Amino acid sequence: MHDYVRIPLTEDEMPREWYNIAADFSKPLPPPLGRDGSPLRPENLAAVFPMNLIEQEVSTQRWIPIPEEIRRILFRWRPTPLRRAGALEKALKTPARIFFKDESVSPAGSHKLNTAVPQAYYNKAFGTKRLTTETGAGQWGSALALGCNWMGLALRVYMVRCSFNQKPMRQTLMRVWGAECLSSPTDRTQAGRAVLARWPNTPGSLGIAISEAIEDAVSSPDAKYSLGSVLNHVLLHQTIIGLEAKKQFAKIGLYPDVIIGCAGGGSNFAGCAFPFLADKIAGTHNPLVLAAEPTACPKMSRGVYTYDSGDVAMMTPLLPMYTIGHEYQPPAIHAGGLRYHGMAPLVSHAKHEGLMDSVALPQTECFRAGMLFAATEGIIPAPESSHAIALAIREAHRSREEGKTRTILFNLSGHGLLELSSYQSFLDGKIEDYEFTPEDLRKSLAVLNGLPSLS
Ligand SMILES: *Cc1c(COP(=O)(O)O)cnc(C)c1O
Repeated sequence: MHDYVRIPLTEDEMPREWYNIAADFSKPLPPPLGRDGSPLRPENLAAVFPMNLIEQEVSTQRWIPIPEEIRRILFRWRPTPLRRAGALEKALKTPARIFFKDESVSPAGSHKLNTAVPQAYYNKAFGTKRLTTETGAGQWGSALALGCNWMGLALRVYMVRCSFNQKPMRQTLMRVWGAECLSSPTDRTQAGRAVLARWPNTPGSLGIAISEAIEDAVSSPDAKYSLGSVLNHVLLHQTIIGLEAKKQFAKIGLYPDVIIGCAGGGSNFAGCAFPFLADKIAGTHNPLVLAAEPTACPKMSRGVYTYDSGDVAMMTPLLPMYTIGHEYQPPAIHAGGLRYHGMAPLVSHAKHEGLMDSVALPQTECFRAGMLFAATEGIIPAPESSHAIALAIREAHRSREEGKTRTILFNLSGHGLLELSSYQSFLDGKIEDYEFTPEDLRKSLAVLNGLPSLS
C-alpha cells in the first residue's frame, strides 16, 4: 500500500448533505419530556431556539441539505485532512494503520465551528439579532463568537467564573471575534443575582451559566439561546466529519475496522462515527465503534440509561440519556470539555441498541498519549482529544498482540495550543487520576429518584 500521509478532498467533493441517524434506528429515539413528564412538542422549545433549528432537532429525514451559504463558509477550513499517523505507528511498533481526521485545523481550533456556523446561519435566517450561550473552558464560546461574527449576529457568552479567571486567553479570543464575555454568575439575571446573594464567592458552574443564558434569551424578544453539544441538530451538523472521512477512505480503498472519538456531550464522536454506523445498521460493514470518556466522568461506562435533566438547575427538558446524575460535579480534570454528566440522546440510543461501546480512561494515560502524539506527529492535541488518542493506542497495541493489521480511525477534535498550562502541570508531575467509586455512583444517581425511567 502507498504510504499516505494526508488524504485531501476538493471543495467539490465536500458533502452537500448532513446525515441524520434518527432515520435509521430500528427502534425510534425516545422523545424529550417536559417537567410534567409528557412528551415535549416542538412549539415548547420556540422561546429558546429558532423554529428552523427545532425542525432539524425533531427531523427523521435521513439526508438534510447543507445550504450553499454554509458550505461557502465551511470551505475556509474544510474539507479537513484525513492524516495517517505513520510516525506514531512506528513508535508503537504496531501493524495497525492509524488514521486521524484533523479537526484541529479550524480557525477556532476544534470541531465546534462545524455547528457554530450553521447555528448562526439559521438564527440569522429566522430573524434572531443576538445569541446567548454558556461556556465552561471557553472552546464553545470562542467557536460561536466566530460563527456569529461571520453571520453578523451579536453574542453574549456566560463563562463560568473560575474559567473566566483561569483562562484569560479564551476570553480575549471571544472579544477579538466580537462577542461579549461575562463572568457567570452576573448581576444581570435573576438567576445570577440569586446565586450571588447566597454564595458571593462561588466559582460558578455550567449549570448556573446555562440558567443565566436561557433566562437572558427568553426575556429578550430578538435573542435566542445556543448549545454546543448534546442536542440532535448539533450532532447532525458534525456528521460532515465522518462523511468526509468515508470519502477519503474510499479514495485509498480502505475502510476503518475501529472508529474512535472522545465523548463529552457526544458531538465530535457522533460526527465522526454516525456515517459509519449507517453502514453497520445496513449490514454492509461491521466496524468496532468506541467512545472514549474520562474515568472521572464515566457516564456511559458506569452510568444508567434513563431520563435526566441537561443542567443542574433543571431548566432544560428531560432527555433520554446515559447519565451519572445532573448534580454530579466531576473533579477538575484538564479535559474540561469531557466534564459533563450526560451523553447525547442519539449516542445513548446507539449504545443502548448495541451499535457501539464506551471505554473510560484515566487522565495520566491520556496525557502520556498526547505527549507521544505531539512528539511523533507534531500536533499538540487538546486534552479532550488525547482521550481518543489513548484509546487508539490501546487498540494499536491489541493489534500487535494479535498480530493483526487493522485500520484504526480516531477523530482529533482539536489542538491544545491554548491549553498549554495543562501540559505544564503534567510535565511538573501535578496531574493525578480520579476513580469514580461505587459510593460516588450511588450518591450521584440519587437525584434520579422520582424522574421518569426508560424501560
Ligand atoms: C468541547 C470539546 C469536546 C467535547 O465535546 P463533544 O460534544 O463531546 O465533542 C472534545 N474535544 C474538544 C477539542 C472540544 O472542544
